[in-house]
Amino acid sequence: MTARVLVVDDVLHNVKLLEAKLRSEYFDVLTAMNGLDALEIIEKEQPDIILLDVMMPGMDGFEVCRRVKQNPAVAHIPIIMVTALDQPKDRVMGLEAGADDFLTKPIQDLPLFARVKSLVRLKVLMDELRMRNSTGAAFGGVGTNDNNTPIKFDGSKILLIEDYERVANRIISYLENTVGTIDLDTVNDGKIETQNLEQYDLFIISLSLREADGLRLCSSLRSTEVTRHTPILVLIDDGDNKNLIQAMELGVTDYVTRPIDGNELVARVKSQIRHKRYADYLRGKMKKNMEMAVTDAVTNLYNRHFLDTHLENIFSAANEKQTNVSLLMLDIDHFKKINDTYGHASGDEVLEEFSKRISSNIRSIDLAARYGGEEFVVVMPETDAGFALFIAERLRKTISDEPFRISGSDQPITVTVSIGVSIVSESCNTKEKLFAEADKGLYKAKETGRNKVCGISCLDEV
Ligand code: GH3
Ligand code: MG
Ligand code: MG
Repeated sequence: MTARVLVVDDVLHNVKLLEAKLRSEYFDVLTAMNGLDALEIIEKEQPDIILLDVMMPGMDGFEVCRRVKQNPAVAHIPIIMVTALDQPKDRVMGLEAGADDFLTKPIQDLPLFARVKSLVRLKVLMDELRMRNSTGAAFGGVGTNDNNTPIKFDGSKILLIEDYERVANRIISYLENTVGTIDLDTVNDGKIETQNLEQYDLFIISLSLREADGLRLCSSLRSTEVTRHTPILVLIDDGDNKNLIQAMELGVTDYVTRPIDGNELVARVKSQIRHKRYADYLRGKMKKNMEMAVTDAVTNLYNRHFLDTHLENIFSAANEKQTNVSLLMLDIDHFKKINDTYGHASGDEVLEEFSKRISSNIRSIDLAARYGGEEFVVVMPETDAGFALFIAERLRKTISDEPFRISGSDQPITVTVSIGVSIVSESCNTKEKLFAEADKGLYKAKETGRNKVCGISCLDEV
């Protein structure tokens, strides 16, 4: 995994040193020696990570950080603040300015590579999510202006796994009033006892547990679906490089060395939760985009594009298992008249209510889609002819028996629907034939008086 890192420091020696270290690990390195140059390079070159010195004459690191995080074009680029060891306040200030992580001078190789690699990994994931969201937006989904979305810490939940009571209590006292609620758990038989691990925003795991192997817990959290994306922060002895390297390889997102500094812990925990919340937000938006790409806006039913794709799957499943598949084609009767009499907006309301009634009268394995203007299709897997006709009749009555109420009119409207039914058989064995058969049934229902179900057996009567 390689990346472009921008190193910002006003002391040439520091710049050269970091540049050499990063190049030795095959990172691409850009450099700047003051805040203004840095801002220009960031905008022009869009680096993957910024290593930013706090103390610089003129514009200091905090100000550079604030400006980057306020600029939507570059706000997503992770920033690591480089602070002096004797200035713990700076770390908190850095994170408040929007920095994603910090390193203390003199910079040691292992923490440097661990932090840079962890943030590069995070950025790759975020870039992917951001890209998918902008693709979604291009398809008519929700917008992509997400860098200014405030990330809230409300209701944050942390699970702490530490079996030294004194240490655990100290950690809880640091975090309890600043970040969120924190549950303490022990490990039994190598397993975390707490259930519903998906409720947590962060796991804090000691790598010096008496009863269990902390690294093994991390590995198991990473390989479990519901906790795969939850950040993990490990507590590690200072200088325990072997465990640190292993933890990072397992996908642990951050670490704090013992003796634990309260300010640092709080700052790191906040930063991890912020990343998690942002990723959750992007994933949620992506899900919404995907839903919007497959559903119809007026009726909330699936759209025709989704129906086509879904039918391919239904057909291959039906062929494999040799089961029945039935299809209903529904067309509202004299819908044009409803529009003409009550207006287009009322017509839309009728479509909406119509769709609700259909959806609530089919099974969860059935699929209802809007096929065109006032035409709908219901696909019913594992359904024989008799049952399909029974459901069709039930749907017809659901529409005709209860007049539709529309806003702005006291007079409920009677709506009826004509339905054609078809079923997969030896002769009706493609998607096209299944549609054609249902269409024939529908045509017959319209021709013989509307508000009717026709197809399969009644077709034979023709
Ligand atoms: P039939 O009983 O033969 O099906 O008659 P019909 O009037 O329902 O059929 P026709 O195909 O002549 O007209 C369908 C009407 O549906 C025409 C069109 O303006 C209307 N329509 C199509 N899509 C929408 C929509 O999204 N909203 C509204 N309000 N009307 C729509
Ligand atoms: Mg029509
Ligand atoms: Mg119609």
